[in-house]
Amino acid sequence: MNTRSIRFRLTAWYAGLLGVLLVLFTLATYVVLERYLTKTLKDSLSKQASDLGDTLLVNVNQSGEQYVIDEIKEHYAPETNDLFLRVTRGDGSVLYISGTPRSKNFDPAKIATPIRTVTQESSREVELDGDFALLVETLPFVAHDGNRFLIEIGAPYREIEDVSQGLLLALGVALPFAIALAVGGGYLLMRRALKPVDEIRRSAERITSQNLSERLPVVRTGDELERLSTSLNQMIMRLEKAFQQSNRFSADASHELRTPLSILRGELETLARKPDTPSDIRETIGSALEETERLTKITENLLALSRLDAETQLEQTRVDLGELVTTTTDQMKLLAEDKKISLRCNTSMHTEVKGSRARLKQVVVNLVDNAIKYTPEGGEVQVTVTKNDDQAILEVTDTGVGIPAESLPQIFERFYRADRARTRTLGGTGLGLSIVKSICKAHGGNVKAESIDGRGSRFRVELPLVNDDSR
Ligand code: ADP
Repeated sequence: MNTRSIRFRLTAWYAGLLGVLLVLFTLATYVVLERYLTKTLKDSLSKQASDLGDTLLVNVNQSGEQYVIDEIKEHYAPETNDLFLRVTRGDGSVLYISGTPRSKNFDPAKIATPIRTVTQESSREVELDGDFALLVETLPFVAHDGNRFLIEIGAPYREIEDVSQGLLLALGVALPFAIALAVGGGYLLMRRALKPVDEIRRSAERITSQNLSERLPVVRTGDELERLSTSLNQMIMRLEKAFQQSNRFSADASHELRTPLSILRGELETLARKPDTPSDIRETIGSALEETERLTKITENLLALSRLDAETQLEQTRVDLGELVTTTTDQMKLLAEDKKISLRCNTSMHTEVKGSRARLKQVVVNLVDNAIKYTPEGGEVQVTVTKNDDQAILEVTDTGVGIPAESLPQIFERFYRADRARTRTLGGTGLGLSIVKSICKAHGGNVKAESIDGRGSRFRVELPLVNDDSR
């Protein structure tokens, strides 16, 4: 899992925040509930105390104390209801005190009377053995005849504690589950929401200067991602236009240069052929003709490259690469013989690829021409065509000057020449290998070079074989 991904970081933040909020909520609920239950208990005790005073104690001089005691026992039944009840006379003697409750939770005799004289209603918490606490409401009461009484009525806190602790426990157990569920759900939602980002990334990786007409997927959700892919698409469109303009420019420029160059060459040749042209001028014309030749080659190559760049649909004929390579090397034998280079060709039959015969021929010509050009007299050039499961492999190996290791990564770049001085005298333009690479790419293949400086080079072209099932 990538911990730096937006998905992970957002989920972690979300989980952290949710955790803190839920813990705060649980604590707040616990406090509020405990206070509410305590208040309710207090109110109920207070009401029972004032009822006792108002109905039983108010006329105690007429009804008699025994009547009051009997009534308390009957109506309040403190032992059964787990209550503590004590009525104390003004002189401090006890009129009534409840017995040990059935639950045996506390002993009423152990509950001390308030030390100070109580003048108004109050409540207190009485701690007893075994972590047991009672909430005791104390109410001073004056009967009609002026006799004073102190009514104490208490109930255990335990119920409140049980309820609030139960709530705390339930929330404590439920909390991790709730967080885990929210995190899991959040992670999945985030994955769904960010899925288009992966698609945009994959499409963006596929787009190169060769396929600028492709566009990124736009999911019509109206969100930021839609706006992002629309903006990126607009940028790709502007790039495409700029590329088209520059392609058109070099295509137009090289096209425009062709005619004046061939006129120039024609006129120079006519001048050189004239018998009265002095020999020194003839020599100058010769070298001007060589330069014109080079310029023509450059323009031809530039034109070829810009056409390849502009081409969106490649011709799709079946080409037997073995046969094409054999015929092309045959045609180039003379060139090799001129330099006393042995040019050998070894191809396997039925190596069919799909594409343009003329373009593939250009690949062979450029590679073999280079091999001959950069191999000194007496050297060897070997051309082979083999195949593996799904690829046709063309290899051109020479025993020539080789390519320095630092130049190897650049030789397929436009106008790159490993040794400018040397290649210029050999008539190089620095565009031959770029053309080879563009043609290979357009055919769904690739080209690689390996070389040992001073010992020779090997160029390897891999092209997809025609699938026999599609015949
Ligand atoms: P050029 O027209 O200069 O040959 P290329 O694009 O065909 O241009 O090749 C680029 C450079 O790669 C050449 O200038 C040369 O330095 C080097 N190169 C290409 N093929 C070979 C080879 N077979 N042996 C040695 N160097 C080579």
